[in-house]
Amino acid sequence: MSSHLLPTYARADLSFERGEGAWLVAANGDRYLDCHCGVAVNALGHAHPALVAALREQGEKVWHVSNLFRVPDAERLAARLCEATFADFVFFCNSGAEAMEGAIKVARKYHAASGHPERVRIVTFEGAFHGRTLATLAAGGQKKYLEGFGPPAEGFDQVPFGDLEAVKRAIGPETAAVLVEPVQGEGGVKVPPPSFLRGLRELCDEKGLLLVLDEVQTGMGRTGTLFAHEHAGIVPDVMGIAKALGGGFPVGAVLATAEAGKGMTLGTHGSTFGGNPLAMAVANAVFDVISAPGFLEGVQRKALLMKQRLAAVRDRHPDVIREVRGEGLLLGIACGVPNGKMIEALRAEKLLAVPAGDNVVRILPPLIVSEAEIAEAAERIDRAAARLSGEAAGNGKLEGVPG
Ligand SMILES: *Cc1c(COP(=O)(O)O)cnc(C)c1O
Repeated sequence: MSSHLLPTYARADLSFERGEGAWLVAANGDRYLDCHCGVAVNALGHAHPALVAALREQGEKVWHVSNLFRVPDAERLAARLCEATFADFVFFCNSGAEAMEGAIKVARKYHAASGHPERVRIVTFEGAFHGRTLATLAAGGQKKYLEGFGPPAEGFDQVPFGDLEAVKRAIGPETAAVLVEPVQGEGGVKVPPPSFLRGLRELCDEKGLLLVLDEVQTGMGRTGTLFAHEHAGIVPDVMGIAKALGGGFPVGAVLATAEAGKGMTLGTHGSTFGGNPLAMAVANAVFDVISAPGFLEGVQRKALLMKQRLAAVRDRHPDVIREVRGEGLLLGIACGVPNGKMIEALRAEKLLAVPAGDNVVRILPPLIVSEAEIAEAAERIDRAAARLSGEAAGNGKLEGVPG
């Protein structure tokens, strides 16, 4: 496989010609059940008729005009996002990292506008992932991603995920905000107890800090509520979203309360492509579907079914599947074998899944997955686990199994 693409990804030797709902069809006609969804992006599956229609329609009108003009569909989506959340203002961008970069800027500028320009530091968490720009890499704090890229951006203080006491100790006179994922996705589908987010909210209120949430992966219905923080019954001051927002069209957003966003005045931030008519047409169509009455209840019902099915698979193959965890359809299988082996075995059963930290495999079906497809996914996962379990029993040790 020779390619002129910069070799920064571990790509599977597999490409797809088209998609239909929860299925991806390879060039040779093989059909794969998609529990990968482009890493939680294709929330409405592939070729959703409403999204295809929105893209076609807008494609024939106007694609891009710049933010020096009004974009009616951007105003409409911003109003809908604010109506559905804590936010008063929305800034549209093009990716998750850009959304988090914007959220960090909002938090710092808030304190500068409040007469405290020295308050720039942000408390973040071990195992976090906020993107690959220089600031979001520093926020994530993962050594393997920072190495060789020069001095990490200043101003991030990392503490263990879920440890409120450590957060308290990390807060000083220069602290501006706490930045956290309600569920750590890349870090291994780690769900903290609801008391953690509530504790962070209280702590931020007590110390005059902003609570900034990274809902790039958890947002737009993935966990069974529109946003994951709803499970804890709290609201943030600032939030970054992206992945599912455009259902596969690249778009991100920063949401903020009027108070938190008060420093973001004329000229303080911008993006050439952010919120262009094409992105906004598709994102409004995504929002139509996800916010329709009953849709999220359906996600919750299907998530429960998926979790029950996976728990049964775990009970049959506890050597291969140690634990099933997650919230809604953001599910993680903690593996008793190397997670890369599990991904390979799943692919052999024509099911696509995503690796994560902590030796976890993420199972991320589209939110429109059917109950029959959930049953099918569970069967394929069971067969993959059985295959690995057999190998493990036969060889004693799986790490040594070639290929
Ligand atoms: C994917 C992800 C990002 C980065 O998004 P990109 O679009 O790849 O820049 C940031 N935060 C979280 C929680 C993510 O899952």
